[in-house]
Parts: sequence; structure tokens; C-alpha cells
Amino acid sequence: MKVHLINPSHVSFGTAVITPRWLFVLASATPPSFGDPVLIDETLSPVVIDSIHQGDVVGIGIHTGNALRGYEIGKLARERGAQVIFGGIHATLYPEESRQLGGAHAVVLGDGDIVWPKALQDCRNGKLQPTYLGGRVEGADFQPARWDLVERKNYMWASVQTVRGCPKHCSFCSVWKTDGQRPRQRASDSVIGEIVHLRRLGFRYVLLADDNFYPVTLTDIALARKQGHLQRLQELEALRAERFELMDCLSRLPADMVFFTQITMEAAEDPAFLDAMAKANIRGALVGVESVTPEGLKDVYKDFNDAGENLVARLQTFRRHNVHVLGSFIFGLPSDRPETFEATAAVAQSAQIAFAQFVMLTPFPGTVDFAKWEKMMEGDLTRISGVPLTRRWLIPQSVRPKVYWPHPVMSAEEISRRTQEVWDRFYSFKFIWKRSDFIKTFRSRLAFMLISKLYRQMYANTGLATDSARVKRSARWARWIAKACRYLFSARPMPELALPDAN
Ligand code: SF4
Repeated sequence: MKVHLINPSHVSFGTAVITPRWLFVLASATPPSFGDPVLIDETLSPVVIDSIHQGDVVGIGIHTGNALRGYEIGKLARERGAQVIFGGIHATLYPEESRQLGGAHAVVLGDGDIVWPKALQDCRNGKLQPTYLGGRVEGADFQPARWDLVERKNYMWASVQTVRGCPKHCSFCSVWKTDGQRPRQRASDSVIGEIVHLRRLGFRYVLLADDNFYPVTLTDIALARKQGHLQRLQELEALRAERFELMDCLSRLPADMVFFTQITMEAAEDPAFLDAMAKANIRGALVGVESVTPEGLKDVYKDFNDAGENLVARLQTFRRHNVHVLGSFIFGLPSDRPETFEATAAVAQSAQIAFAQFVMLTPFPGTVDFAKWEKMMEGDLTRISGVPLTRRWLIPQSVRPKVYWPHPVMSAEEISRRTQEVWDRFYSFKFIWKRSDFIKTFRSRLAFMLISKLYRQMYANTGLATDSARVKRSARWARWIAKACRYLFSARPMPELALPDAN
């Protein structure tokens, strides 16, 4: 009885940017009596279905974007006589879909860290249950990943998680609903143990794959103090102190390590936090800017962000503290107008953010936006390949539309075209070179150029393009750039590296 863990993808690039963490976490949760699981990441190469045999267990983790491919694999694995178990955000939201379309014998809802070994034991005993409730495990119970199973040369960045959950409630995001609003932080020594293991293997770039690395803001603390809410104040201060402790430990790792994470823009008001990040070698962070206008921020329930000049100033604060920003912007909000695209491109440029992504407003399952949209679409009779738009992830990739939300003044094609133009401009050679002027060495500057181009190819062209020839061409390009990037991101292994001394 072999255990296979599969990360589905309809495009394979040969090399991947970031390790799909869940594969290595569930490998760690797999009891030793089952042997080492076979890890298959389809962003590298497609699964060889003949390698799955009667009586094997196949675990498939899906999010909305790769659910359809996951279902194809699930059905094939079941036909070959395997026990099929689905998990991941999408399976948690739509467990019946995994059973009906993906051949699932069982579905894990929520975190798999604790419940996965139970599902495996039940498989072995012929008592597999249809549903396993994984819930939200506490930080102390997060499984560390099995990095001894990673093929170093396949990935540029490794991924380590330090906190799950986010206290905000953005309308387009499902994190606060699925992972909860209470931050569940992991102890520093467990995080550092994993990172030291990764550096020993030769990974020096690590993504801190957190929902929100900055879960407690100074405003939250000030409010709790003002309200005389002592218990809340103590909790918040303890969470904040743990973040500083973790960053202090990170700062004592080899100086060539580079970390990247995800935070909210409020961190710009917290110079001590930004300085600690820079000292910890957290050189970059994804910041959800979403919109450059106050109306757009209201559209997404994100009025804790700034707009206009204040926005530029806030974003520049990160750079002044040596934390570089990957700004995330959304197009197609009801208040957007044709001139919003140009204004957004100008803000991205003048705020000197290092990377940017420009996504089209898409209602994702599990979000407030999706619930609203689904209700609005109740009477809609449109079917593509027999599938209603509200189940768009089941529409074959080649004919799946890219824009879903009717806009008051722009057509779907106009939003899509203008979005692509902003990507093209932001990632032109001229602008990337200019943005890279903060980098000191030529090798690092080259790496920045390549990773910028790779990011654009992987996301903008394969994610936004509707024409399949363009998607294929882009995937080929991305494969080529990814190979070159692999060398620039690798580091000499440090097998003797010790854990940093405790203070
Ligand atoms: S978008 Fe970011 S800040 Fe908003 S709820 Fe999601 S994780 Fe939290």
C-alpha cells in the first residue's frame, strides 16, 4: 500500500518557483509504518497514472484554480483501484463535488495536520470514513515539513509557515473565513528548525507562507488599551512579542538567507516592526494594495488602506526600511474607470515597489464577494460546456472566461485588455532595470530581472490569456527562464549548519 500525495496542475514548467508546502507537511503527518509517500507536484511534471496501483492511497490537495485537474486525477486513480482522499480549501468548501466529480472515497475538511494519519489508518483497516473533520489546528500542532523528501534542484524557493489566520475581513478573500480571524502562531524554534534544515540543503530563499505575517497592528493595541480591555491587550502584546522573537531568531541565521512574506499595509505605521523585518532578512512582502482610489477600497471592505498620495508615501516607507513590496492590485471593481488602469500603473511606478501583480476581480468561493455574486447570478441561464458560470472552475481551461462580474461602464474584454497592458508596461525591460537599481551586485540584479520576467510569464500570460497558443508559448518561455533562474537562486549547501544559539 503506497501513499501518493498529488498537487494537481494543468500546466507543468519543469522547474517551480515555490515548494507546495502541503505536500511536505502531509508527508510529515504520514506515519512511518506507511513508508515515505510519493510526492507528485504537477507544476513540475504531470503524474504518471500507471504508477498508481490497486490498494494504494492517493491524497489530492485542491484549491479552486486546480480543482478540475484534481478531479481528473482522482477519477483515474479510483479506476485503478486506489483509495482517493481529497483535501485543501476547495474540497473543504465543496466536499460533495470531490465525491461526485473527483471519485473521492473520503474528504478531509480543514487542516490535515492531525487528521491525516487517522484517515490513513482507517484506509489500512478498511474503515475509511466519508468525511474527516480537520478543523483549525493550534500553532503548536502545525506539522513541520519533511524537507528530506524535497528535490532541491526543482525549486527556487522553499516555503515555511509561521502563522495561520487573519483578523481582517476583505470581501474578496476567503482566508479569514477558512483559516479564521484568530492568528494561530507557531513557536519560533519549530520554524527555525525547518529553516536551518532548508539552508543545510542549499535553499537560501524562503517564503514565509503566512496568511498575514503582521496579525497585530499598533492600532489594535491602542484600541484595546483605550477600551480598558486588559485580557485582549495582553493577548495582542504576547502575539506581537512572539513575532519579534521569531524575527530575532531569523536574524541569527546565515546572512545570505532571504525571506519573503505577506503583510498588510498597516505595517508601514510600525517602524520597529519594519526594522526587525529588515534585520531578519525579510527583504520583501506581498502587500494587498487592491485599489488606488478610496471608492475602490470601499468596494473591497479594505478602508484601512490609504489611497492617492498617502498610499505612495506608505509604500515608500517599506522601501526606506529595506523591505521591498510586491504590490497586489485588483482591476474591475465597480468604481473602476478606464483611467484607473493608468493611475494604478503610475502609483506602482512612483511608489517604487519591486514587483506587482494586477488581478481581475474574480469572486472566489468562500468569500463575501462570491456569496453576493452567486445570489445575483441565480437567474442566469448561461452554460459553457454545460456548466453554469457560478461553477466556473468546472469549465474546461481552454474555454473558461476570465471576467465574471458585469461592470457598470467597461466590457469584460476591455478590463482584460487594459489589465494585460498594465502588466506589459510594469514588466518591460526598461522599467524592471530601473526598479532594480537598489540591488548592489550584478548577479542579484540579473536574478531580479529574470524573476520579474518569469513572474510575468507564469502569471500574466498563463493566467490571464484566453488564447491557448499564447498560454503554451508562455509556458515554454517560463520553462526556459525558470531553468536559468534555478542557478541564480541556488546556494552552496551547508550540511554542518547548527541551530542559532538561544538568547
Ligand atoms: S486579503 Fe489579506 S488582509 Fe485581507 S483578509 Fe485576506 S489575508 Fe487578511
